[in-house]
Amino acid sequence: MGGARRCTDCLTAPVMKCGRCTATRCARHALDVGVRCDSCERDWQDWSRFVAPGGRVVLHDARADRPGGRGLPGPTAVVARRLREPGTAGWEIVAEADRTVAAQRTA
Ligand SMILES: [Zn+2]
Ligand SMILES: [Zn+2]
Repeated sequence: MGGARRCTDCLTAPVMKCGRCTATRCARHALDVGVRCDSCERDWQDWSRFVAPGGRVVLHDARADRPGGRGLPGPTAVVARRLREPGTAGWEIVAEADRTVAAQRTA
């Protein structure tokens, strides 16, 4: 990797990084809170299945959308879509504070 010099979606110089993956985005394509990062979604899909039932994962920089929370757009969107939304089977948030979310695999 030579270090990203371009937005993931266009050729403009990036102003932000996803925070969790290598995606970088220009001002126009910057992720709003709650908008998913495809690369982070893939990361979750690829790796979350290796956690055994009862096992836990800790997601850092994942609370940008919480009152008083901190975080970055990519990880925050993964938590919002995969762990907070009603009907997200198999995972339960067991603790969270500041910028960190701990989730347990329930099934
Ligand atoms: Zn762009
Ligand atoms: Zn990402």
